[in-house]
Amino acid sequence: MSGNILYIEDNPDNMMLVRRVIQSGGYNLVEARTGLEGLAVAESQDIDLILLDINLPDIDGYEVAQRLRSSTKDSVAKAPIIVLTANAMRGDAERALDAGCDIYMSKPINIFELLEKVSALLSSAAQGNDL
Ligand code: MN
Repeated sequence: MSGNILYIEDNPDNMMLVRRVIQSGGYNLVEARTGLEGLAVAESQDIDLILLDINLPDIDGYEVAQRLRSSTKDSVAKAPIIVLTANAMRGDAERALDAGCDIYMSKPINIFELLEKVSALLSSAAQGNDL
């Protein structure tokens, strides 16, 4: 299945790894390096799924998720969001889910698990299921 996937991430190594993984799955990766850039891209392009870092240079990933969820653009408000973060603190996963994210994954990134989750979320979204 094809899809446009936005990755909001300030770390170049993570960006490069995820770009390779996502492209190997046959998807297109759109890149943003700050929270505000990510929001602008989501509003101006057709994005099917969002990968989101938490520690960003401007607004954090929780704030990004909340703003995405309150977008007036329906496809943005409902886009599946996977959080990828090294914040393996107790309560972080819950906070991400409360902010409207669908899945929380901790770094280091498990590339097989990531592709599996992306595929599952995209096919679920394509069937119009609420996540
Ligand atoms: Mn970061």
